[in-house]
Amino acid sequence: MARSSHDLFQEAQKVIPGGVNSPVRAFRGVGGDPVFVERAAGPYLWDVEGQRYIDYVGSWGPMVHGHAHPGILAAVAAQMANGLGFGAPTAIEVEMAETICRLMPSIEEVRMTSSGTEAVMTAVRLARGYTGRDKIVKFEGNYHGHSDSLLVKAGSGALTLGQPSSAGIPQDLAQHTLVLPYNDLDETAQMMARFGYDVAAIIVEPIAGNMGCVPPVPGFLAGLRALCDQYECVLIFDEVMTGFRVALGGAQALYGVRPDLTTLGKIIGGGLPVGAVGGVREIMESLAPNGPVYQAGTLSGNPVAMAAGLATLRLLERPGFHTELAAATEALCQGLAECAAALQVPLQINRVPGMFGWFFHDRPVRSFDDVMAADAQRYGRFFHGLLKRGVYLAPSAYEAGFVSAAHGAAEIAATLAAAREVLQAMKET
Ligand code: PMP
Repeated sequence: MARSSHDLFQEAQKVIPGGVNSPVRAFRGVGGDPVFVERAAGPYLWDVEGQRYIDYVGSWGPMVHGHAHPGILAAVAAQMANGLGFGAPTAIEVEMAETICRLMPSIEEVRMTSSGTEAVMTAVRLARGYTGRDKIVKFEGNYHGHSDSLLVKAGSGALTLGQPSSAGIPQDLAQHTLVLPYNDLDETAQMMARFGYDVAAIIVEPIAGNMGCVPPVPGFLAGLRALCDQYECVLIFDEVMTGFRVALGGAQALYGVRPDLTTLGKIIGGGLPVGAVGGVREIMESLAPNGPVYQAGTLSGNPVAMAAGLATLRLLERPGFHTELAAATEALCQGLAECAAALQVPLQINRVPGMFGWFFHDRPVRSFDDVMAADAQRYGRFFHGLLKRGVYLAPSAYEAGFVSAAHGAAEIAATLAAAREVLQAMKET
């Protein structure tokens, strides 16, 4: 007989730290055993016990067309027939780079990596190498992968575990990372007035997605752009999550602010391991082999990953795609808002096209402090109630949810019916 999720988790914990290969998957944020997944298609996941779920995690972002999209699988299969990778340049890498540069005009050159973490690590090294400065400004609750300089007051899994700053990072290095409150331009300007000429880069999630979903307040991103211009430092938008999701040109297109460097991941790999760093030519030319900033990767630009990513991007280019994704996100969030209001449950609902954050809180959530003031325990009850009813949300109050193009009216209606039952039950107990 097939092993249950519980049995597999017991086995897993003997041979994998915490039983998982990435911490949030362990369900520490919500309690209970993680769901072991067997397969997925469209908006659905099936676990090893045959239970089906409507999935709002989407492999943490890449599955913007839903799971196992036939066109993407076919592109991957066709590329695989030629071999899995060569460690030498391929035409499909050029096509990927041209596509990214065309869709995101702030990017003139782009280097592929194998993960978002590597992309951001490279962006920071590039900014330091290009400016000759050491300090980095980041924002509390923003997550930029797990490289040393950035795992300081981070969001996502680290925050879920209550360890936003990791052990094992030398103080000598962490002291170069200045951390500011997200969406607080005044504090950022004050910090820049003191240290601005020592700052190599300001890095920001243009829509925070690793403390739930917290969009930028009006003027925040444009203000960061102006500060970077004033102090001649590099503005890095970490669009690993938002890139190609919230708009074809990413958050930078949605808000009309042009960064110097952009980091990408998730969607550009279509579900396979990929990241990328791109930006203005002058800075990108600092990278090896042309410049003094070293960066490399055995599997970078892997042709199978490029095939998955390119097929994903081509599907996104269909006119109307993002309007439809925004409408689906709106239908889900608006439906939930009505349901919470009818039941008088204090639920704050943030959304941008394709992404949402739901917070049990009675005031709008715009900052890290607001996120921390929301009731994470209630989120855990809501999560488990939905899970029982076949809806899979992120197993942490500090992760964004993702809607895909495969989430149709039927899935949204089923999700809302389940949510209504759960909120009602939570009210009664
Ligand atoms: N930046 C952001 C904004 C992210 O959301 C993530 C991952 N969720 C990363 C960087 C790191 O990417 P990866 O997990 O591929 O290393």
